[in-house]
Amino acid sequence: MKVSAPAPQTPLREILPAERAALFERELGLTTAYDLLTYFPYRYEDLTAPTPSNLLGAAEGEENAAGLIVSVKHQFLPGRARAKTTALLRDDAGVFTAVWFGRPYLRNQLSEGLRLFVRGRVQRSFSGPQINVTTHRVIRENEDYDGEVLPVYGQTARLPLKTIRAVIRKFLPLLLEIPLDELPEELRCKHRFLPTREAYRAIHLPLRMSEAREARRRVIYGEFLGLALGAAVKRAQRAFSGGALPLSAPDQLMDELERQLPFTLTGAQRRVIREIWGDMARPQPMNRLLQGDVGSGKTLVAAAAALLAHARGAQAALMAPTEILARQHAAKLATLLLPFGVPVEVVLGAQGVRARREALRHLADGSCSLAIGTHALLEDDVVFARLGLAIIDEQHKFGVQQRMRLRAKGYGGNLPHTLVMTATPIPRTLAQSVYADLDLSVIDELPPGRTPIRTRVTTAARLPDVWAFVRKHVERGRQAYVVTPSIGLDAAKRDGEEEESKAAIARATEVYDELAKDVFADLPVGLLHGRMSTREKDEAMAAFTRNELRILVATTVVEVGVDVANATVMVILDAQRYGLAQLHQLRGRVGRGAAASFCILVAPADHAESERLGVLERTSDGFAIAEEDLRLRGTGDLRGMAQSGAASFKLANLVADFHLYAEAKADADAVIAGDPRLEDPEHRGLRQLLAAGETLQALVVSS
Ligand code: ADP
Ligand code: MG
Repeated sequence: MKVSAPAPQTPLREILPAERAALFERELGLTTAYDLLTYFPYRYEDLTAPTPSNLLGAAEGEENAAGLIVSVKHQFLPGRARAKTTALLRDDAGVFTAVWFGRPYLRNQLSEGLRLFVRGRVQRSFSGPQINVTTHRVIRENEDYDGEVLPVYGQTARLPLKTIRAVIRKFLPLLLEIPLDELPEELRCKHRFLPTREAYRAIHLPLRMSEAREARRRVIYGEFLGLALGAAVKRAQRAFSGGALPLSAPDQLMDELERQLPFTLTGAQRRVIREIWGDMARPQPMNRLLQGDVGSGKTLVAAAAALLAHARGAQAALMAPTEILARQHAAKLATLLLPFGVPVEVVLGAQGVRARREALRHLADGSCSLAIGTHALLEDDVVFARLGLAIIDEQHKFGVQQRMRLRAKGYGGNLPHTLVMTATPIPRTLAQSVYADLDLSVIDELPPGRTPIRTRVTTAARLPDVWAFVRKHVERGRQAYVVTPSIGLDAAKRDGEEEESKAAIARATEVYDELAKDVFADLPVGLLHGRMSTREKDEAMAAFTRNELRILVATTVVEVGVDVANATVMVILDAQRYGLAQLHQLRGRVGRGAAASFCILVAPADHAESERLGVLERTSDGFAIAEEDLRLRGTGDLRGMAQSGAASFKLANLVADFHLYAEAKADADAVIAGDPRLEDPEHRGLRQLLAAGETLQALVVSS
């Protein structure tokens, strides 16, 4: 066991006993000291302020009461095989009854003369108020107890609330030694916040509900301040950044583009192409975010931007987060741009030496107009003759530094125009406040002729039916995806490629084994996960594309890029682990062709969960889904927000807590105006707050 103060990144297993640490990682995805410290309760049980018995039953929800046991009766209800305990209690105002069901052990716990604190729903009857106890606490003799506030944490079947509470209670003092994001005294006083350490203590173990609220206010403000500081820093930086090559669109370009396409542009595509071309015509670098739901046709918009660069004698680079996606973009864009004679090259990490050398030569001598690749494009030996446009797909998968490195490849002191694309829609008002430094284009219209994906939520108990459904479709010639959860998937990113956790790989493999060897033993089943080599991944994908594999078990690596029109069924296991927006994006992998497609979400039989997932049954509008996600879970799930740091919110909800955001933003702007690089020692805690350190790196890079 570690004795010295833990750092935020100290592994949980150096703090908790090994088995416990493994359990917390497996069940909750917590791997570091900071993860545990910031595993916040989502609500509290208020066991303070008991209501006098004569006033019980006036409130809507649960109520508290306290009293002395006058008599107690233990029964067994044989018909329902349940224990029932009934106690009569007396307080200063009179008497009331407390009832427990299904707790046979109370026989040894409750007896006459004990003092009790109880909480539950109250029914009024002729014999006085009766409370159906959900929580109780026996007060020992001489104990000075006037109630407590109990934190309620997200629990799982294998990691119950009681254990989480006990572990956090025990280790909190140690966790509070982690260096925390102290606010400058001035800001703390201005908002009358609890001291930082106090706030973190009180959020887990508040003495009163009012204290919990205060603690939450402090932590939420801190999250917002980090976000707002990041935006303020970026804005300040942008003011200093250089110019760009003006690339104005020739008059006929739109007509020519439309003439060469196999389909008509949607109105939304035409509009955003105009917006992008308008930006590119200016001598300041474009900095635009293109949002569009899965399948809305962003690739074509990227092609139009690249086409303009080519038409004006400049080069474009398109960077995608995975090789699968980069290859697919290359195939699509090369086809779209073929009639215009746009030479395209591919730059990947796993590429033959000869092929790579050729590609780099064509980029350096300007004979290639469009380079498509992964983060391999960022290598020093990738040199462009005249880079005028950088397009970044699924931009949230890249760090700020990586995006900056691409931009740094601009030409003659110019920055390339930058277009970032995301399939995670964010409500517009929100995007404007968060992406203060980006202009926004939205494709809010799908190409005609799409059949909506039919989505159903079901439970693990019904998996046999689900597999039968899959079999039926596969036997009709279709293909299916089975997606397994990606515990801790987003935790680690290396060189822009996601590292999947061991647990995620293990789970995928386990499901694969079960399906391949048992359930679908007679069908070709494949496996795809992030830790396979590029060759293996490509082979699996290619075999699935050729319809040689009929069922593909995959982690969320399928989320980006994969485009197999014949795949019409997707089963997502443990759907409760995903945000709605992410599920929506995942299911966008089916429904690519004209045939009816299906998405089956498998989750525990928990009411709230099926309510939440039910949103996906009812709508296929990505923006509506994103808004619902925001309402339910805050911005933590909107992965399009990762670059702004909003994805790291543990508590803050940009919708519900917007007033606090406004205050944090005003404070951040004032701080950055006075200390643009946060060099003042008073601002040390603020540097820490800067979301995920990303913007801080940007600060360093630009200085
Ligand atoms: P995403 O926005 O998810 O990247 P894609 O660019 O991959 O979407 O487009 C999805 C599919 O829709 C592609 O097969 C593409 O050829 C097709 N598509 C794009 N624009 C149109 C359009 N205007 N009309 C018909 N089909 C289109
Ligand atoms: Mg796409």
